[in-house]
Amino acid sequence: MTVCRLRAALLLAAAVPLAAATAAAALRAGHWRLYADRHRIELTPQPRRSCPDCRGAGGWWVGGANPEMEACSCWSDRRELRVRLCPAPAWPDEPPF
Ligand SMILES: [Zn+2]
Repeated sequence: MTVCRLRAALLLAAAVPLAAATAAAALRAGHWRLYADRHRIELTPQPRRSCPDCRGAGGWWVGGANPEMEACSCWSDRRELRVRLCPAPAWPDEPPF
């Protein structure tokens, strides 16, 4: 993903909470997942389809009787970005009229 596309995705994520205060939006672009609602904006890494280890599955099962999912390093070693937005007052102090 280029920086320009990432910037456009972040601008879209910032505009969505302003347009629809109660709606949440999730967007997948490249190997990132963008989630935005009125409280936060999250950018989380996703498994790469071109990964030779997991082939986009994100991990694999290990162990015998009690198998556990081992996360692939193609997404688990990348950092996630979370921006908390300012909380809006739940109820305004003044009546609307
Ligand atoms: Zn992988």
